[in-house]
Amino acid sequence: MVTIVPAFGRLGEENAFAVLARAGQLAAVGRDIVNLGIGQPDMPTPPHIVEAGVKALRDGHHGYTPAVGILPLREAVARDVHRRHGVEVSPDSVMIVPGGKVTMFMAILMFGEPGAEILYPDPGFPIYRSMIEFTGATPVPVPIREANGFAFSAEETLGLITARTRLLILNSPANPTGGVTPKAEIDALVAGLATHPDVAVLSDEIYGTMTYDGAAHHSLLRYPEIRERLIYLDGASKTYAMTGWRLGWSVWPKPLYDAARKLAVNAHSCVNAATQWAGIAALDGPQDCVAEMVAEFDRRRGLVVEGLNALPDVSCITPKGAFYAFPNVERTGWKAKALASALLEEAGVATIGGPDFGVHGEVYIRLSYANSPENILRALERMGTFLAARPNG
Ligand code: PLP
Repeated sequence: MVTIVPAFGRLGEENAFAVLARAGQLAAVGRDIVNLGIGQPDMPTPPHIVEAGVKALRDGHHGYTPAVGILPLREAVARDVHRRHGVEVSPDSVMIVPGGKVTMFMAILMFGEPGAEILYPDPGFPIYRSMIEFTGATPVPVPIREANGFAFSAEETLGLITARTRLLILNSPANPTGGVTPKAEIDALVAGLATHPDVAVLSDEIYGTMTYDGAAHHSLLRYPEIRERLIYLDGASKTYAMTGWRLGWSVWPKPLYDAARKLAVNAHSCVNAATQWAGIAALDGPQDCVAEMVAEFDRRRGLVVEGLNALPDVSCITPKGAFYAFPNVERTGWKAKALASALLEEAGVATIGGPDFGVHGEVYIRLSYANSPENILRALERMGTFLAARPNG
């Protein structure tokens, strides 16, 4: 019998994919399911981006590219960083990767080992913890609190750093809460990091273009004092509705760049060439498609928050970013995971239980409002009927 190494026993998953599969099964047997589970824009990729991908294939871009990505795309990323964050980065520090996840995979592999501690947001994207556990490092959750508007707290984060801390993972705007951490909090965090020069920072800014109500996204790239230990994670999946193309990018400090390049050579060689050309069209092309998508999400955000707060014993703070609502369901009497499961099986609404995002997600469920207003309203109505009929779990 073959056996694989024990580390795989510690590897987690993203339950959103399991919920997607279950919703698909139910739909296949004729159930009408509204899917507010998976986090991906429901719009198609804008046509000029699709055309650039098709053209690249027609033009013969069929072979390997450099492992770090083609130079014109790395230059386009540098321009994007400058346009959005006002910061100069060299295309030689930019790495093109197959999706946002790959940057976190590389960063966690670089710093995770038994004895090391890695701080990560909880509730947060489940892959952070999964990968930390895989490396044998100790995952140290940084609580992300509703009372703080789901922003991270500089003080609480800094208080969790020990002599063993190797990496701090930050995510704003955040999945699953929609929280956006204000500049003053990030200023305080970066100031506090001065006394912890051995702690690297991974800033997951994949929802950076999606903020509302005037909440500004403030990139960690804006702090020159941590640039030599900052890994910036971004990508096209959410901003340009390109989840299936698999395109992400990162900015690395010089000493880590070559390690990331070697990992790419070992793992995937390069990102699909046509996707990279489509990425140039996305970054250099008109940005009104992004503004339109964000305006549409904003409209749906209003619907979902209002609808959730009208449900019995449910309360939802207004998320300031991304496309998720994270209502508190504690007063319903339901355990969040049981509620998410019952909503899917009995009411035909797919959501994700908060505990899938960490222990501090215990009393919440996550709804993605990247779905049509009609579907959002249908889902809310079904949830209302369900909770009225089945209060208290
Ligand atoms: N980071 C966060 C916070 C996310 O929510 C996601 C996707 O849901 C990713 C990274 C990964 O994105 P990608 O699909 O580009 O790998």
